[in-house]
Parts: sequence; structure tokens; C-alpha cells
Amino acid sequence: MACIFCGIARGEVSSNIIYEDDLNMVFLDIYPVSKGHLLVIPREHYESIHDTPDKLLARTWFLSSVLGRIYRVEFDAPGVNIVTNSGGSAGQVIFHFHVHVIPRWGRYGGFWSGRHRLTEDEAKEVIDMWSDKTGIIRDALNNI
Ligand code: 5GP
Ligand code: ZN
Repeated sequence: MACIFCGIARGEVSSNIIYEDDLNMVFLDIYPVSKGHLLVIPREHYESIHDTPDKLLARTWFLSSVLGRIYRVEFDAPGVNIVTNSGGSAGQVIFHFHVHVIPRWGRYGGFWSGRHRLTEDEAKEVIDMWSDKTGIIRDALNNI
């Protein structure tokens, strides 16, 4: 079965990209639980966190942490969740390793509550928010 995230990584499936480099991509979850819910993937296909080579995993996880830090520090989000699901029993639905970076803007209402279909306006707003943050992300990655 074709992997949808491989399709996104190859540019064959459309997505709302926030950041990309030779190893990773960051794009908006199509069913966000909050405004700015991001997915971080390695371009290469690995089924879960536990199949991903250590170096690539370290980079993908660090990148996810940097994105979370930007939400907390630059965008003043009062909270952020950084999470990955490994295995169907843990709720993994797409079997291409990905990290959810979920900013929390208000009172916590449950982990997956607030889930909705991403609208074009919302996607545009989040892409605009992130448009001048590429330099911070690259600087952070260059320092590890
Ligand atoms: P999982 O449950 O596997 O950790 O999460 C998969 C995530 O991928 C879900 O949050 C779901 O909304 C998201 N997703 C599924 N299909 C697509 C898609 O085609 N494009 C995007 N951008 N996100 C997707
Ligand atoms: Zn894949």
C-alpha cells in the first residue's frame, strides 16, 4: 500500500509545508487538534520511532523540540505537546514515523479534543506565522 507521507515527502501529495531540508519535513496535520498542530517526518520511510536509525531519529526529535520551543518562546504558547505514537495499539494510523508538535493556546481540554478539518484560512494563517522562523530552525540544527 502506498505511504501517504512518502507521497508528501516526494512532493506528489499536497501538504502545507512549514519547514523542510534534506532530511526532514514539517507540515500541518490535516486534522489538527489545535491551531498550528505540526507533523515532523524524516523524508525516508521508517515505520515508527523504533525503526528509525539513531542519527536521523536524534535530528528529527531535536527538530521537533526546536519547533516546540519556538511555540513556547516566540509565539508565547502556554503549553506544547511533543508526541509520537508507535504501533496501532498506541493510536498510530500512519506507519511512517512522525512526531506531533501540538501547541496549546488555552485551557487543557483533553489530549485529542478540538480535532477538526484544517481549513484553508487556518493553514494560511499558520504558514504566515512560521514564514520568518526558518533561520532560527536552521541555526538550531547547525548547533548540534
Ligand atoms: P498517528 O495517529 O499515526 O500518530 O497520526 C497520523 C496523523 O496524520 C493524524 O493526526 C492525521 O490527522 C494526519 N494525517 C492523516 N492523513 C494525512 C494527510 O494526508 N495529510 C496530512 N497533512 N496529515 C494527515
Ligand atoms: Zn512513508
